[in-house]
Amino acid sequence: MSAGVHNWGLVGHGWAVDFLQRAILSNHQSHAYLVSGPRHVGKALLALRLAQALNCESQAADPCGICRTCKRIAKNNYPDVRIASLVTQAAAAKADEAARQRDLRIDTVRTWLADINLRPYEGQRRVFILDDVERLTDGAANAMLKVLEEPPPYATIILLAHTAGDVMATIVSRCQRIKLRPVERTDIRDWLTGQSYALADAERCAAWSDGLPGLALAYAANPADTEAIRQQLDELIGLSQLSFTECVKWVEERNKAFRAGEQNDIYAMLTLWQRWWRDVLVTAAGTPSQLTWIDRQTDLVRVARGTGVEAAAQFLQVLALAIKQLRENANPQLVLEHVVLQIPDRR
Ligand SMILES: [Zn+2]
Repeated sequence: MSAGVHNWGLVGHGWAVDFLQRAILSNHQSHAYLVSGPRHVGKALLALRLAQALNCESQAADPCGICRTCKRIAKNNYPDVRIASLVTQAAAAKADEAARQRDLRIDTVRTWLADINLRPYEGQRRVFILDDVERLTDGAANAMLKVLEEPPPYATIILLAHTAGDVMATIVSRCQRIKLRPVERTDIRDWLTGQSYALADAERCAAWSDGLPGLALAYAANPADTEAIRQQLDELIGLSQLSFTECVKWVEERNKAFRAGEQNDIYAMLTLWQRWWRDVLVTAAGTPSQLTWIDRQTDLVRVARGTGVEAAAQFLQVLALAIKQLRENANPQLVLEHVVLQIPDRR
């Protein structure tokens, strides 16, 4: 194999890199890829590396990372690589309009694809990367579908989505699918220590990240993020010590935040809470492996003793149901009130 950057500079996803390398070497690459996986797992980086590999001046199946082309693609300053997302759409809009945008619109897709039929200006292939594909409006999805039905000869389209299940089936069926899963914790830890982070910090950030390298790096690089997570967890653990009135007040604040458009923060909080109770559950069961909160084992043992396996398992079901109900547009005040009333270690 050619001498490129090891594993294209990605943490994990070696099978996806191998697969794409082989496709390039045998000249069997697809016209369209759909890369799915959770936020921070590495979708955008894989897409960028594929764009580099297809155009690298070394003409190998790997991006060398150091030629002028690789460097310009990395800086999003290369005429044959075109990237669009909710972020680029918002950047092109007025501030108040950008704040209201929830979907990828048809004009964004049309602008992004405008000259897709042209030959490459400089490189070997033109690469069109679109993020947030699960947020395409129906009109935008249909515009995209027309292009996928008759793929232009010089273009590679790379679509990125959280879950392929949220993407129009007719789009999915016309793409080569690449599903990225969370990365092994030890791989993330080693990657962080390789960047000179201390071992204990690397282990904690890897554990907290739940297999998402981008998130682990954010925790490692930003002490403020680490502190924010600690505070949020303390607050959640502390809820069991609050009176009913105080809990209702807490719920009211979360309800306001949810209705003010901070849904993602509330979902992130509920996910964090789920992971705390998963840790409590495995600790209570006497099988504390792959803990998220490796730096909170004293608290875990204390809460696990006070609740036990069954209550922890039941509360995990309550949390899972709450997330499902919120996604189905249930009333956040009622949903969250029900959750705090069910906290198993309530005073
Ligand atoms: Zn290169």
